[in-house]
Amino acid sequence: MPELPEVQTTIDGMNKLLLKLKISNVWTDTESLFRKGDFKDFRRQVKDKTILSVERKGKNILINLSENKTILAHLKMTGHLMYGSWIIKNGKAFAEESGPISNDPYNRFVHVVFTLSDGKQLALSDTRKFAKLLVWETGKLDELEDIKNIGMDPFDKNFTYKKFVEIIKNKTARSSSLKIKLLLLDQSLVAGIGNIYADEILWQAGIHPAKEISKLSDQEIKKIYTTTKPILRKAIRAGGSSNSDYRDIAGEKGRFQNMQNVYRQTGKPCKKKDGGIITRIKIAGRSSHFCPIHQKM
Ligand SMILES: [Zn+2]
Repeated sequence: MPELPEVQTTIDGMNKLLLKLKISNVWTDTESLFRKGDFKDFRRQVKDKTILSVERKGKNILINLSENKTILAHLKMTGHLMYGSWIIKNGKAFAEESGPISNDPYNRFVHVVFTLSDGKQLALSDTRKFAKLLVWETGKLDELEDIKNIGMDPFDKNFTYKKFVEIIKNKTARSSSLKIKLLLLDQSLVAGIGNIYADEILWQAGIHPAKEISKLSDQEIKKIYTTTKPILRKAIRAGGSSNSDYRDIAGEKGRFQNMQNVYRQTGKPCKKKDGGIITRIKIAGRSSHFCPIHQKM
C-alpha cells in the first residue's frame, strides 16, 4: 500500500505538472471506485474546474480545484496516479505513448481517466480496484471520517518529541498492552506510516515490533522519534518504494525497495552485522520483519 513517501512522491509530481490545468472530462469503467458509486455526480462536480494545488493528508491525496471543490483520492492497496496520454476504445483505456506507462504491466490497470485542458490525461491504475475517489467542498473536508480522525503528520511542525511522548502516554493510559508496531500503523495517532516504514523505523531504532508501549523506556521512545523523519525523508528522496504496484506519476518505479534494511528481507543477515537473521512474524495479522539480535523484547 502506498504510504507517506509514495503519496508525497505522487503529489510532488502532480504539483509540478498539473497546476492551472482544467479537467475537461472524466471517464471510468469502475463506478464503485467513487463515493456511493455515484460517478456521474463526481464527474458533474469536477468537470471544467481548474486544478489549483495538490496536498497530502496522511495517505490521502487532496486535489484542490476552483469553485471550492476538492477531490480526495485514497490509493488504498494498489492504486497509483499517472500523467500521460490514453485513449478510450471499446470501454477500455489504452496508453498512447511509449515508455513505462505502456511497457510496465503494473500500469495497465487503468480504471479512471481525467482528461485535462493540455490534451493529456491523469489516470488511475489500480490492479485490485480498492482505491477511493470523492469530491467535497474545500474547507469542509473535516466532515469526512477519513480526514476528521487523522492523527498528526510526522512532517507537521507540531510533531515534536514532546508531542510523540504525549501520543504514546495517552495511548498507554487506555491500552497499555498495545504493541509499538500497531501504534505506528494507527492512522488516528500518527498519519502516513504503514507496514514498510514502521518496520524500517523500528529496525533502525532497535526496538522489537511486538514490544508493548507501556514497556518502552524514554530513551527508546526518543530513538523511534528521531528515526522516523530521516527514514521517511530518505524514502521520499528515493521516490518511494515499489515493492509491488506503486509507480510515480511518470509510471516509473521508486528506488527505496532497494534500500530497505528489513522489510521483506526475511532470511537475510541483518545489515547491522550483528549475526542476526531477519525474521518475519505476524502482529495482529500484519507481517512484521525484524532482527532478533538487536531488536529484543
Ligand atoms: Zn540486527
